[in-house]
Amino acid sequence: MGHDNKESEAKEEVVLKNCRLVITKDENGRLLENVDILLKDGRIIEIGTIKDKKGIILDCSNALITPGFTDAHMHLICHDMTKAHSFARMVLLSALVNGVTNAVIFTNVPNVVMATAKEVGIHVRLAISPEEYKRFSNREMANTIISIEDPLSLPDLIESIDRVVELHIHISESRNEVFTFKRKYKRTPIAWLLDRNLSVEKVYLVNPNWIASWELELFKKLKPCIIWSPSTSMYRALDGFFPYKELSALRVPLAIGSCDSASLSISLLDELKIGSLLLKYNYWDPSLYISLNAVTTVGERIMGVPVGCVKIGYLADLILFDIKRLMAKGLDLKNIERAFIEKVSSHDIMMVISRGNVAYSRSRLPQVLEGVY
Ligand SMILES: [Zn+2]
Repeated sequence: MGHDNKESEAKEEVVLKNCRLVITKDENGRLLENVDILLKDGRIIEIGTIKDKKGIILDCSNALITPGFTDAHMHLICHDMTKAHSFARMVLLSALVNGVTNAVIFTNVPNVVMATAKEVGIHVRLAISPEEYKRFSNREMANTIISIEDPLSLPDLIESIDRVVELHIHISESRNEVFTFKRKYKRTPIAWLLDRNLSVEKVYLVNPNWIASWELELFKKLKPCIIWSPSTSMYRALDGFFPYKELSALRVPLAIGSCDSASLSISLLDELKIGSLLLKYNYWDPSLYISLNAVTTVGERIMGVPVGCVKIGYLADLILFDIKRLMAKGLDLKNIERAFIEKVSSHDIMMVISRGNVAYSRSRLPQVLEGVY
């Protein structure tokens, strides 16, 4: 499975020279200092000391590098079809300049989103409604995810989506939803869902803010991945108590999505900050924060391709942060990941590399935004 955009892969070699600090997010959580990284054909080919290379050489002695981010659930719903392209471009560029190189996008304009994402340099998997899905053939939609935005419609829809391999479901998002669902179907949404023997390869539950402790037990059976959008949960005043610690104890993977971004920030760094603050308050535990894994390594499961890690063989999706700016904010290198969540913002991004191409560089911001606003 997976879908590499072959045409958009860089043919020329790119050397990131003297990378000051690299947060690899590999299985050993290694931090690398003063290394070179060689990119070719959209992948990371070599990490170490790289000599005598032609092609593009980028001086990275002022860069802190992380894997590109995956936005696990973004909304791009267009209400004015005459402006679909410029709207998609605005949303996707905002995501890109905030470090997103991969995204699952729930949209009503799938063709426009795919074409625009290619222009912008973001790699996308589509999520569409079940109604939209029925209009396409199996083959066309091979890599498409179905997104159920209203769980009250779940019982009507679930029978018709048997050929789906992946499913995003907004579920138990608000107290009102849980009780309305229960009144109608005699079960809570999650209990109802777990009663079904879904022939679905992967299930993603979006914003489950209202989960009972006994429902957590059921998570062992379904083995879903959780997608949380802290700002959307806050914005819609959904209240609830996102069970981060309990889900972590069950080793349920967590991804972060910007979700209803039309009205909110599209920055995953902001989402990590907001989410971490909510956790501290909810659990009354200042040591809590959301790991960068939720926007990096989990991307491999979500996108179905090797992303989210700075490692040989992985796709060359990278974010270059301005380390001098971060030092000026008092970035603590000893506790880099926590410091990263607390201090780093999208304004510190100098460059975003997507599949080995420079998709965004801060110095080119005015040109990038031309025609958007
Ligand atoms: Zn959604």
